[in-house]
Order: sequence, then C-alpha cells, then structure tokens
Amino acid sequence: MAANSPFDCVLLDLDDTLYPGNTGLGPALKRNIDEFLQAKLGVSADRAAAMRVELFRTHGSSLAGLIALGYDVHPDEYHSYVHGRLPYERIDADPQLARVLQSIPQRKVLFTNSDRAHMKRALERLGVDEAVFDAVVCFETMNPHLFDEAREEARAAGGEPPAVVLKPSVDAIVAGLRVAGTNPRRTLFLDDSERNIAAGKALGLRTALVGKRVRSKEADYALENIGALRRVIPEIWGVAGGEERSDHSMDKMPMRSDLDSIIQPTSIQA
Ligand SMILES: [Mg+2]
Repeated sequence: MAANSPFDCVLLDLDDTLYPGNTGLGPALKRNIDEFLQAKLGVSADRAAAMRVELFRTHGSSLAGLIALGYDVHPDEYHSYVHGRLPYERIDADPQLARVLQSIPQRKVLFTNSDRAHMKRALERLGVDEAVFDAVVCFETMNPHLFDEAREEARAAGGEPPAVVLKPSVDAIVAGLRVAGTNPRRTLFLDDSERNIAAGKALGLRTALVGKRVRSKEADYALENIGALRRVIPEIWGVAGGEERSDHSMDKMPMRSDLDSIIQPTSIQA
C-alpha cells in the first residue's frame, strides 16, 4: 500500500473518463436514444431530441425519465438498443491505462451509470482486465429492483413507477461509497461529468474532473485525460507532493461508521 497516500480507495467512472470524450460514442449514443424514443413513443426526430435533453435534465437519463413517466421500458431493452449498437471499434486499446490502473495500490471501484454489457465491451476494447477493479458499481448493481419479479407485480398493481438510481443522485453516490467501504474524505472520485463531481463533493468525496484543463468549483483536481493521472495526482502512490497537498483537516472528518448519519437516503431523481 501507499503509506503516505491521503486516499484509501479510488472510484473511477468509465465513459469519457477511462477513454477520451472524442471517440464519437457520445454523439452515437444520442442518436440511438433519439431513435429509441421515436420508435417507442412514435414522435418525430426533433421531438425525440428535445425529449432526450429534457429527460436527462429532469431525471438523469432518458430511461429514468421514461420509467418515471410510467412507460413500460425494461432496462435491458433500452440498453441493448442505445448501447448495444455503439461503434465500440472507436475505442482504442490503451496499454498505458492498463498499467496505471494495475499500479494503483488502493482499492479500485469502477463506478458507472452504464449497464454491465456496455462496461465489458468498453473495457475489452481498452484492453483493461475487469479483474483490475476490486468491485464494479454499474446500472444493474444500483438498480436491482428493476430486474426482480417485484417490478412486474408493482406494475400490475398500478403502483408508483420505481425510482431509477443513477449518478448524480445521492442514492447513487451512496451506493458507490458503500462499495468503496472507506471514509469519503479518503476516497478519490474521478468522473468527466461536472454534475457527478458536484454530487460527490457534496457527500465529502475528494474529486477529480477528467477531460478538463480547468477545475470546476467542486473538483479538487482537473485532468485533461486519464493519462495525466500520475502527474496530476501523485498522492495516489504516496509519492512526493503528497505532504504539501494533503488536507490535514481530513483527520477530523467522519469515519466509515458515521457514513449513515451524514448521507440522507433521498433522491434527486424524484
Ligand atoms: Mg462519464
């Protein structure tokens, strides 16, 4: 372990964090979502694009929005349509990333809103062995209630639509923290989304915004890309720079046993 490191665990987002944001997967994803909305709801292309933007803003994702609005959409149906048809060949192998991940001495948790099939395909393209992570938090692990029989029973009974748990909701960050099993103040969270970073910061995580030269207000670090990890955050390895950059007030911050009292089980997805 890195004895002098201020971190006990590293939470890493996947999309546009472990691979660059300019692969073209993002625009392809938007097109797939628009086509899904057109097919599912029978709306025009323009209307579908506007709905996608609005559902993302108000519910965190189009899937979460559709479910909240009462549409019967199974997550697997949605993910196979919008993720399953992505141009994965545009993700290049990154041997340096594989080596850097391997060298991180702390517990490593992959923390993604994406479904497991997408995660596996993206990691395979990158040439990163899933086993390098000690744990994975993904769509399925954050939303087991959407896959069990109770879902169908609740639907049949005409109950409230189930909540979909995704970053940046509090429930999602809590799910990540529980799997991390560490003091939030000693947990480093890397993500390319400013709103995810803000949500993590609000719950006490140390935060690194990936894909940006300049830090957002809630980011403790900014990395232009994941390849800059060693240079920008050498503290992970407990090497020079750790002393002066570590936050000594962390020693007074709550420990794991206090986690439940500082995080409230609310959701901004509602
Ligand atoms: Mg991302």
